Amino acid sequence: MIKAIKGTKDTFSPEIEKWHFLEDNVRIILENFNYTEIRTPIFEETSLFSRGIGENTDIVGKEMYSFIDKSENNVTLKPEMTASVMRSVIEHSLHRNKPLNKFYYISPMFRQERPQAGRLRQFHQFGAEVLGSNSPYLDAEMIIMPYMILSNLGLENFKVKINSLGTPQSREKYKIILKEYLTDKFEELSEESKRRFETNILRIFDSKLEQDIQIMNNAPKLLDYLSEEDLNHFETVKNILENTQIDFEIDTKLVRGLDYYTHTTFEIVSESVGAQSALLGGGRYNLLSKQLGEDEIPAVGFAAGMERILLAMTNEKLFNEEEQPKIPLYVVRLSEDVTAQAFNLALLFRMDGIITEVDYLNRSVKAQMREANRLGAKFTLLVGGEEFQNEKIILKKMETGESEEFSIDDTDGILNLISKSEYEDEIEE
Ligand code: AMP
Repeated sequence: MIKAIKGTKDTFSPEIEKWHFLEDNVRIILENFNYTEIRTPIFEETSLFSRGIGENTDIVGKEMYSFIDKSENNVTLKPEMTASVMRSVIEHSLHRNKPLNKFYYISPMFRQERPQAGRLRQFHQFGAEVLGSNSPYLDAEMIIMPYMILSNLGLENFKVKINSLGTPQSREKYKIILKEYLTDKFEELSEESKRRFETNILRIFDSKLEQDIQIMNNAPKLLDYLSEEDLNHFETVKNILENTQIDFEIDTKLVRGLDYYTHTTFEIVSESVGAQSALLGGGRYNLLSKQLGEDEIPAVGFAAGMERILLAMTNEKLFNEEEQPKIPLYVVRLSEDVTAQAFNLALLFRMDGIITEVDYLNRSVKAQMREANRLGAKFTLLVGGEEFQNEKIILKKMETGESEEFSIDDTDGILNLISKSEYEDEIEE
């Protein structure tokens, strides 16, 4: 049997309704901040990511789905969205036409990681990017927006961690200090960290191994080596968060793996999802446009893992797993000779925006009624029999068993009754 590839998933009802719920929340909140959606291709030239994200990052070094296509192009399935958004803005000169570009996205991403709970090879992110301003208000906005989304979804066990990486100048100075500190501890580091010592020394902070953690706990802190300007930027971001009553903690070890970050970096982690606890992350990336050969375009963004957020919601029992979605109407065909009429009636209600089901399996009347019950239909419309010969159909309210007769062309009358009942249900809720 052919199966879905390891680390990928099929999604269908009742899971898909959870995805829609999450996506609806994301769109509403990000659009309230006046971000508009951007969609970029699933694959890009590999060099976009190797130049943008950096050769010495895990994503580029180990995790990308890259291949040579039949035209000898080296292409990669996108592992993240930031580089693609920047490429798109530069390619279409959006930054020249508009001083500030604000985009959000909901998209699949691809990374060849070892699959485990909360870690897939095709996963999905929503996120936002704003290009064209160095304002610390935007750094804060990139934390406030996902915070609002998570709160709106009903999540509770999450916390915000922030740090600042400053400008490349202060970071370079700090890297020398860190190198000095680590030189005589080099032999105690893990093999991976020894490699990072040469290639991407800040990333040693990301190590999850106890031997590295102990050493890094006592390492000099990047925050102590930032310039006054860097610190002012960071101070403002913290003040904005405090004013908006967002709880956060400073995590001086939060460096995030990518080369393009400057100034603020942040993560939101959850206690509800196990080892892979980061729900989302982001930061300012003023360097990226230059890495792609363009003038500096100051920018900041975040990316959130949708599978992990849904997992957190499930673990925090935010979904009512028992509750089946109910449909308003099931059209019951009382005999085979009215199949076409039943189908046409269903069509009329569907065109009027009522979710309607009808039988396609030549079921008996009893079996159709059973199916209507299984679907939680609030009403059944009985088509056929003597009434139908007299151009009448019967609408039955399933809960009470009450029936009302309508003339077959009185769809408005039927619609009124169904809508009234939907309205009453809503008020009750
Ligand atoms: P990153 O782009 O690595 O900063 O990731 C941002 C967010 O995407 C993370 O906090 C996770 O929630 C999610 N994420 C990253 N990689 C994966 C993966 N392999 N599977 C599922 N979610 C992921």
